[in-house]
Amino acid sequence: MKAVLASHNKHKIGELQAILAKHIPDIEILSLSDVGLEGEIVEDGATFEENALIKASFAARSGFLGIGDDSGLCVTALGGAPGIYSARYSGEDADDKKNNEKLLSELGGKSDRSAKFVCCIACVFPDGRRLTVRGETHGIILESADGEGGFGYDPLFYVPELGKTYALMGAEEKNAISHRGRAIERLADEIKNFGD
Ligand code: IMP
Repeated sequence: MKAVLASHNKHKIGELQAILAKHIPDIEILSLSDVGLEGEIVEDGATFEENALIKASFAARSGFLGIGDDSGLCVTALGGAPGIYSARYSGEDADDKKNNEKLLSELGGKSDRSAKFVCCIACVFPDGRRLTVRGETHGIILESADGEGGFGYDPLFYVPELGKTYALMGAEEKNAISHRGRAIERLADEIKNFGD
């Protein structure tokens, strides 16, 4: 079964392929460039689900199963921010370092440091049916970075279940408990059940 992920990111495509193939051995994940779909996708949804559906609908123009995802960090004491704006939290010239600095400064003096990572994945099937799944992982924002691995907010996101930050986890270890890993597992169930 062929599916198109609305991304050019080889790492994301490889990760989705690896996890889905454990459940759906004949799945083949293609990128937008693999199917010749060009153009910018305007992610102007108000929720993770809406943005994931916008991307999945774009990928479905290929005629194959279209898949889109959207993720971010939601911090309780910040009213759910940065949320869908996680990638650009510190502005137009945002990078991981600036985003983490902004997060620490916004949380300065706040006692509640609880947060969750959210990943929504949407599917648009060739017959027009659509669905979304969501994976969440709860954690705590540390006062300073711990670990060098990963990307984004990984060094600040401490997961009590494993007693370490995302940045200190290996890829397999992170996939087993991460918001994205959990969402992909749910997606596999939904795709397998599709057609029942
Ligand atoms: P995307 O929707 O998966 O591209 O994620 C949007 C943004 O959320 C990223 O640029 C990161 O800032 C943040 N993010 C999403 N997933 C993770 C993660 O697993 N670790 C750290 N940051 C993440």
